[in-house]
Amino acid sequence: MAKIHELSETLSNQIAAGEVIERPASVVKELIENAIDAGSDRIRVDFIDAGLRQITVQDNGTGIEADQLDLAFTRHATSKISNERDLFKVATLGFRGEALASIAAVSHVEILTSTDDISGTRALFSAGGKKSQEEAAARKGTQITVSDLFFNTPARLKYLKSPRTEAMKIVDIVNRIALGHPDISFTLSNQSKILLKTAGNNNLKQTVASIYGRPIAEKMVEIQKSDSDFEVTGLVSKPELTRSNRNFISILLNGRYIKNFQLNTAIMDGYGNKLAAKHYPVAVIDIKVDPLLVDVNVHPTKQEVRLSKEKELGRLIVQAISEIMLEQNEEGGFDNLA
Ligand code: ADP
Ligand code: MG
Repeated sequence: MAKIHELSETLSNQIAAGEVIERPASVVKELIENAIDAGSDRIRVDFIDAGLRQITVQDNGTGIEADQLDLAFTRHATSKISNERDLFKVATLGFRGEALASIAAVSHVEILTSTDDISGTRALFSAGGKKSQEEAAARKGTQITVSDLFFNTPARLKYLKSPRTEAMKIVDIVNRIALGHPDISFTLSNQSKILLKTAGNNNLKQTVASIYGRPIAEKMVEIQKSDSDFEVTGLVSKPELTRSNRNFISILLNGRYIKNFQLNTAIMDGYGNKLAAKHYPVAVIDIKVDPLLVDVNVHPTKQEVRLSKEKELGRLIVQAISEIMLEQNEEGGFDNLA
């Protein structure tokens, strides 16, 4: 056996990247989450060749100071938590300090960032190392361009699905995040051709209309219900509007899009016998909860979370939806609804 030795930072970043950055859509997700954490209210995303040639995310958030850039691209360096206690009440989407280091380990990254509207910094990182940094004119905010994703990890490239499927995954994640943040204006384009644009005027129904189309948005009703731990709001489709799969159900927990089978089932249960077999609703469920009740440190991509009182939350969701269904019945059906 060879002697044990520590891996170089470049290599360990590449290994970590395998967990955080599975595909182009993961890059998009991580960069958008950073933009949201930076307080942006306008986020633009563009991609070329399913994101493999290029992904650009531009925001109008806080920006990064020139002397902080190296740290931003260092693994386990973050501005979002600092001690153990923080880890149990994470209020931001990021906290692991892994995304930028991971992305830069498997691509070429150009960042242009400014904390004011006067001047900023442009830097290049590639395959884990910094190539250059200079002062540059920039508006307040950050623009990150990721090129040639996975150029140095051929195995990962092979594992990817068709360009069409990978592009659809980008569209899907941007849709879901936009649904969870109607107060932020999102623009998604494919080589400058606009695929999605939301107004960012904090109107969920309009956001749903921008994403799924007006006919769907018009067939959705508001829900709102809370107990001492959870506040559930959102829009769910009237029973006559269904889809053939669960993909039109989005659950957001404190602004984070999550995958959770139990809560999915709770949504369906809320409809009681109003849904035919293999028919699924369209739903956007926004859950607010004390971060102390959520463990987001379960999986590197943070899409699965561990939730205390999940059963209680499930019951609340069932109630929220079944009550609205009942109300509509009493009012003489859904046709009366605007
Ligand atoms: P994390 O989000 O878990 O902190 P990242 O690697 O995604 O880790 O980002 C590292 C740090 O870089 C963040 O903590 C933040 O301070 C800074 N940062 C990243 N993206 C942006 C952005 N778009 N605007 C402002 N700061 C950013
Ligand atoms: Mg992050």
